[in-house]
Amino acid sequence: MNEPKKIPFNRACFQGKELVYIANAIENAHISGDGKFTRMCNQLLESELDVPKALLTTSCTHALEMSALLLDLQPGDEVILPSFTFVSTVNAFVLRGAKPIFIDIRPDTLNLDETQLESLITDRTKAIVPVHYAGVGCEMDAIMEIANRRGIAVVEDNAHGLFAKYKGNYLGTFGGLATQSFHETKNFTCGEGGALLINDPAYIEAAEIIREKGTNRSQFFRGQVDKYTWVKQGSSYLPSELLAAFLYAQLEFRDRIQETRQRIWETYYESLSPWAEKQGVQLPTVPEYCEQAYHMFYLILPSLEARQRLIKYLDDLSINAVFHYVPLHLSGMGRLLGGEPGQCPVTEDLSERLLRLPFYYELTQADQEFVVEALERFDGWG
Ligand SMILES: *Cc1c(COP(=O)(O)O)cnc(C)c1O
Repeated sequence: MNEPKKIPFNRACFQGKELVYIANAIENAHISGDGKFTRMCNQLLESELDVPKALLTTSCTHALEMSALLLDLQPGDEVILPSFTFVSTVNAFVLRGAKPIFIDIRPDTLNLDETQLESLITDRTKAIVPVHYAGVGCEMDAIMEIANRRGIAVVEDNAHGLFAKYKGNYLGTFGGLATQSFHETKNFTCGEGGALLINDPAYIEAAEIIREKGTNRSQFFRGQVDKYTWVKQGSSYLPSELLAAFLYAQLEFRDRIQETRQRIWETYYESLSPWAEKQGVQLPTVPEYCEQAYHMFYLILPSLEARQRLIKYLDDLSINAVFHYVPLHLSGMGRLLGGEPGQCPVTEDLSERLLRLPFYYELTQADQEFVVEALERFDGWG
């Protein structure tokens, strides 16, 4: 094991009431899924985002898998998604036998390049999966116009972007379906967890059934049927009340968490701007019509070699900075699915030069200054 870093890349957020709510769930003697705290989390997401239905899930991966089941994908169906993303975005659809069609990203926001969508659509295309990288919205006007005109479903992977907005509307409210993550590395967490947001009400009943092992148990508890039974294929995608209780303690303080993250992000941006300009380092781009989620702070270095030297240099100072996303079309599995070098040139270039800086709720001002000063002293540009 490596020694713990003085300044880690991430540290899980705690707000203080997590244990109180977990104790409360235990006192209520309801620790399996869909109790009081799950309902409170679902309702908070529904009312805050104004979505018809939010369902807590065991992870964002599982919310994506539910989406693939809800779309009733058949082997050979095609799904367009970025190669520059976490493996689950693609795996969930591959599990249903669908063929991933990798789309390149824009060099500014690192979100999928919507101008390439039309050329990738075929009569087998069943879904487009925009990933709002770093919680900065994809070009949803263009994406939704194309998807609606061609009759293609949209599933937003909004793992990074809870409470961020595109042109005044929350991310996760554009596609028929959207997914959230509450993994330890995300802004709000319960260790492992997620949510499915359902904007197209036609999916609600099937989603409840898929999440409850293929049974109509949710309708039974609402008194809509007098016994519950197996009605279609499904699995178990609901988290324990203990996790929902933990999560509620964080969602309740969402403004405090987001304000703190905004301050950290802006401090990095302002302190590093002159240095970045001098060294030819690209800082994140946030279009003025996007209110971002302050999920991460990244640098695009001039070369792969400079990035590798910088990672080593920071590591020697006990600062943990990390790269992100080896392009999926070049991974072992991606190659088996037909991925080839040169297929997504912007992704291939930027993923080699991207570096994420330590960014977490409890990052102190002194530690952040230490990171900034270390960067300013780095001279391994080559
Ligand atoms: C974290 C992440 C996921 C997976 O989230 P889990 O809750 O860990 O399953 C999916 N997509 C993206 C873009 C992510 O960053």
